[in-house]
Amino acid sequence: MINENFLKLSESYLFTEIARKVNAYKEEHPKADIISLGIGDVTQPLAPAVIEALHKATDEMAVAASFRGYGPERGYDFLREAIVKNDFRALGIDIEADEVFVSDGAKSDTGNFQELLSADCVVAVTDPVYPVYIDANTMAGRHIVKLPCTPENSFVPELPTEHVDVIYLCYPNNPTGTTLTKSQLKKWVDYAIREKALIFYDAAYEAYIQSEDVPHSIYEIPGAKECAVEFHSYSKTAGFTGIRCGFTVVPKGVKSEKVKSEKLGLLETISLNTMWNRRQSTKFNGTSYLSQRAAEAIYTTEGKEQIKATIGYYMENARLMREALTDMGFKVYGGVDAPYLWVSTPNGMTSWEFFDWMLLSAHLVCTPGVGFGPSGEGFVRLTAFGTHENTEKALLRISNRL
Ligand SMILES: *Cc1c(COP(=O)(O)O)cnc(C)c1O
Repeated sequence: MINENFLKLSESYLFTEIARKVNAYKEEHPKADIISLGIGDVTQPLAPAVIEALHKATDEMAVAASFRGYGPERGYDFLREAIVKNDFRALGIDIEADEVFVSDGAKSDTGNFQELLSADCVVAVTDPVYPVYIDANTMAGRHIVKLPCTPENSFVPELPTEHVDVIYLCYPNNPTGTTLTKSQLKKWVDYAIREKALIFYDAAYEAYIQSEDVPHSIYEIPGAKECAVEFHSYSKTAGFTGIRCGFTVVPKGVKSEKVKSEKLGLLETISLNTMWNRRQSTKFNGTSYLSQRAAEAIYTTEGKEQIKATIGYYMENARLMREALTDMGFKVYGGVDAPYLWVSTPNGMTSWEFFDWMLLSAHLVCTPGVGFGPSGEGFVRLTAFGTHENTEKALLRISNRL
């Protein structure tokens, strides 16, 4: 017997379908110089500080006296302390090192964390959305509520009219590139406290924030330490998509409702921090020592400057794209505090019609918005992860073909 919830998953059709169309076109037009504005992966190399740390850690592994085997379950102290100091205390947020769990990236943790919750929990996600949240909860058989994010509500999800137990929020957002201000996020924290709900906050693009009033962490909002778990990743921050490292913050104040313990026979609340520690020490054996040393290096003075320069490079692409596309008459959202632009298709085209137009007439690849959920219909996602040269070339092609 299998877990039949897997049969309810929608096919991961988006990126395979894009690849199929692009390959078919390439076969017919082998000389076409196709540029992708659809890549969801970084392209610039790792920072020199990171490379240096990787070499050093590798050399340590070559000598018995400094060799490291299994590391501590929550991650090495050196990294968790650097995280607490730089990502939280620097913002005036009081997070303890034992509330930080180093991971191999945010995909695993955003996907796995729901295991701690009852299958009866009702889950809310924004629409369009990063598919991991939906698929992980579908596999677990949960009911999912979609909160539309459209130009009509300025991509700010409205509070659900029915009670939900769990809310996934990702800001800056993938795919729309939009953000929430502190006061907009506060409404969700207040909702969670009032409804005894839990917020899963995906902060994977936190390092791209340029605007003053956009929170870098949900813990900037009072009360969030009682109702929110926050996921971070070095993938987009520092180009770690291939290195693999991230972390999850589980404040000790985030607790279950009272539950009856078979063993103790008492009614008690359980902290998710304790549960996540138990879960991870059973099913996860840690992120590699090399990856953790590499992550530590981004918190050094040089490391900070170097990753900021790379993010600046991508954000310059985003600025170019925003300005040029807006000048051409496109309605463009995002791209100010995120490497993604969410572009309204012209002349009422569907997402896929515009994708085909881009491919056939400009030899450009984008990501059809409808692939991220029904509210994504009529949009495409463009990313700023390409090179300057390709970005400029791509923009010129669009303006020439319009
Ligand atoms: C890229 C991305 C992540 C990070 O995934 P990793 O597993 O850390 O590489 C997490 N959430 C969203 C929304 C992303 O786009």
